[in-house]
Amino acid sequence: DWRSACILANCFSCRNFNLIVIYVIIMNLIFLGPPGVGKGTQANLICNKYDLLHLSTGDILRLEISRKTEIGSFAKSFIDKGELVPDETLLKMMNNRLNQDDALNGYLLDGFPRTIEQAKGLDLIMKKIDHKIECVISLLADEDELVSRLLKRGLTSGRSDESIEIIRHRQQIYWNQTSPLLNYYEDIDLLMNVNGVGEINDINNEIIKIVNQYA
Ligand code: UDP
Ligand code: MG
Repeated sequence: DWRSACILANCFSCRNFNLIVIYVIIMNLIFLGPPGVGKGTQANLICNKYDLLHLSTGDILRLEISRKTEIGSFAKSFIDKGELVPDETLLKMMNNRLNQDDALNGYLLDGFPRTIEQAKGLDLIMKKIDHKIECVISLLADEDELVSRLLKRGLTSGRSDESIEIIRHRQQIYWNQTSPLLNYYEDIDLLMNVNGVGEINDINNEIIKIVNQYA
């Protein structure tokens, strides 16, 4: 598996003394893309394969809502309208999360950052704890395909933001507020594009090819 593949053990014997040097490559990835493009599905597959921590800020916020926490009730008012939860809230939440020990072994950020402000804040947070982003994978698909996928998901997801009007609004928010991140990450040579239309397995293989360059 990946862990054993990227652990290089060099053993030097010297009489009764053994020195073992182990290198482990830690990867931190970002998945970027419009609602419904398959970030969550692909993130699950990649996190299982490479043993990464899956951090979906949408899932974290929905958990906060179900637990009726302060942050949850604050976030709910934005989520129900299809708006973004304010940058400050997300950055505080992610600062806490990334400072926990389980974030030391590599993670995949699914759906965060969502604005340029959040990306800049994330850069600062990661710099402070000496983490670095290996690559940002952008998944894309055309608008009609995305809307029909989300409407289908809405039939069973029980999510409050999967009616047609809110879906359209979330798409708009993505293009206005989140898509500038494509240039932001392209400019610092982190962006890799993947076509989000096709078989789940084929898309997964495309992503694996990219990730293996870093692993
Ligand atoms: N959301 C947000 N910031 C985040 C993650 C989620 O504001 O970092 C809110 C936003 O209102 C968004 C909703 O939560 O429309 C659902 O996000 P999620 O990532 O689950 O949606 P997806 O894009 O995966 O369908
Ligand atoms: Mg998602």
